[in-house]
Amino acid sequence: MISDGRGPVVTMQQVLDQVERANNAWAQAGIRVVMIDAPIIEEAPTGADGLNILSDGWLDISPALDDVAVIEALGAAATPAVAEVIYTGPITGALGYARVPANMGGDLPQNHGENTYLFVASNSPTSRRSLAHEIGHALTNQPDLFFTPSIIFPAAPPIGTPQSTLLDMSPLTRRRVMHATQEAARTDRAAGCLTCVGNRLLSP
Ligand SMILES: [Zn+2]
Repeated sequence: MISDGRGPVVTMQQVLDQVERANNAWAQAGIRVVMIDAPIIEEAPTGADGLNILSDGWLDISPALDDVAVIEALGAAATPAVAEVIYTGPITGALGYARVPANMGGDLPQNHGENTYLFVASNSPTSRRSLAHEIGHALTNQPDLFFTPSIIFPAAPPIGTPQSTLLDMSPLTRRRVMHATQEAARTDRAAGCLTCVGNRLLSP
């Protein structure tokens, strides 16, 4: 959770709600989502321009920019076996974002390595299940388009879909994980294979 200089960008309850929804979402695959440590509140890092990355009101990710600053700031605190979840300010063009091994990008720092960094925007409603969705990227190491767009992951909405129809209170959307997605999410990814399906996040 990062601060914009005026205190944390989300409340602890927002964090707990996202984790609860993520846990509900992935229970179908037999995967439990747990917080390893209590959330840490810290100032957003300084970007390449010398300014706090949230000083313009956004976490800029396209092209990779502010996400790189966060990854560099986390440094050796991140490891391949644990996903780092960063609650941040609004994200340009998204409610969440995943830097997984397959999504390195040319301009990412070396210390990204095999680590997993998941960003959740402060303006993401709990019912959009942003953390659950980004965990889908982390577990499968695949982009939205890898799977048939449906249900909770990847739940890439068709262009023009009203936001109000995407909330998880609707029995028609975002409620279950496809079998193929479930299998991919439960796959162990071999160390060193940055583009392989699966992850190194699950422990027996
Ligand atoms: Zn996605």
